[in-house]
Amino acid sequence: MPSIPKWMGDTMETVFSSFLHPVTVTETVYLHPKLKKIRFEGDLSRARFTAGNIVQFRVSDKDYRHYTPLLFDADSGICEILFYLHGKGPGSQWADALQAGDTLRLRGPGGHLQHQQHNKYHFFFGDETSLGLFHCLKQSIEEHQQEYLCLLELENDYSTWPSLSGVNADVVGRTASAPASEAIRWINLFLDMDNVFWHTWQQAAFYLAGNAQSIQAFRKALRAKGVTTRQIHTQPYWAEGKKGL
Ligand SMILES: Cc1cc2nc3c(=O)[nH]c(=O)nc-3n(C[C@H](O)[C@H](O)[C@H](O)COP(=O)(O)OP(=O)(O)OC[C@H]3O[C@@H](n4cnc5c(N)ncnc54)[C@H](O)[C@@H]3O)c2cc1C
Repeated sequence: MPSIPKWMGDTMETVFSSFLHPVTVTETVYLHPKLKKIRFEGDLSRARFTAGNIVQFRVSDKDYRHYTPLLFDADSGICEILFYLHGKGPGSQWADALQAGDTLRLRGPGGHLQHQQHNKYHFFFGDETSLGLFHCLKQSIEEHQQEYLCLLELENDYSTWPSLSGVNADVVGRTASAPASEAIRWINLFLDMDNVFWHTWQQAAFYLAGNAQSIQAFRKALRAKGVTTRQIHTQPYWAEGKKGL
C-alpha cells in the first residue's frame, strides 16, 4: 500500500488509530549527507518487536513507506532508524526534512524477516537501505553468541558506510546493468579460496534485503551453490523505477 488517496489515508488513521503509536523526533544525526539516523520516542509499550521487523510511516498525504529500525526498545519507548537519502522520492525527502520536535505516527512493528535464532551462522546481503536491518540483526546475533558475515553492494562513494553504521562488512560495487554481479564474483572467490570455510557458511541463514533485482540474482547464485530455499530469507526494499514497496 505505498500510495492511496488522501481521504482513504485519513479514514484509515482514524479507524486503525489503536495500531498507530504517536512518536516525537528527539534526535537527528547526519552520519553522511545522504545517511541520516533518527531517534523517535513515544509510548511503545503495546508494541512487540523482533530483530528484523519493520515499521511504516505516512510520508505525505498519499504516500506510505516502510523502514527497518536499527534499534527498537518498547520499554524505553525508543525507535531508531537509518534513512538512505537517495533524493528521488517522497519518502527520502520526508526523512531529510524531519527534525527534532516533529510529531508523527508510527505503524507496526511487523513483517516476516526475523533473526533465525536456531542458526549459529548468519549471512547478510544488501545495500544502503539495509544497514539498519543488518545492525539490528547483528546486535541480536551477538547477544546469542552467534556469527555473521555481511556483504554490501554500495554506490562507490559510500564504501565507508558500514563502519558509520557499526556493521562489519565487505563492500562491492553496484552495476545497474548487471545487478549483484560483483557480489556473485565475491561468493565465487570465497568458494575457490577456502572450501572448508564455505562448507560451514553454506549451512547459514541467508538474509537478502535491498534492491529487488540484486536479491533475485544473488539468490539464484546461492541456489546454484547448494543453498536451500529454506535457508534464504528475502525482503525487497526497492526496485529501479518503481515507487514504494
Ligand atoms: C520492508 C522495507 C523496509 C525498508 N527499510 C528501509 C530502511 O530501514 N532504511 C531506508 O533508507 N530505506 C528502507 N526501505 C526503503 C524505503 O522504504 C525507501 O527509501 C523507499 O522505497 C523509497 O521511497 P521514496 O518515496 O523515497 O521513493 P519511491 O517513490 O519509492 O521511488 C522513487 C524513485 O526512486 C528510486 N529509488 C527508490 N529507492 C532507491 C534507492 N535505494 N536507491 C536508488 N534509487 C532508489 C526508485 O527506483 C524510483 O525510481 C525499506 C523498504 C521496505 C519495503
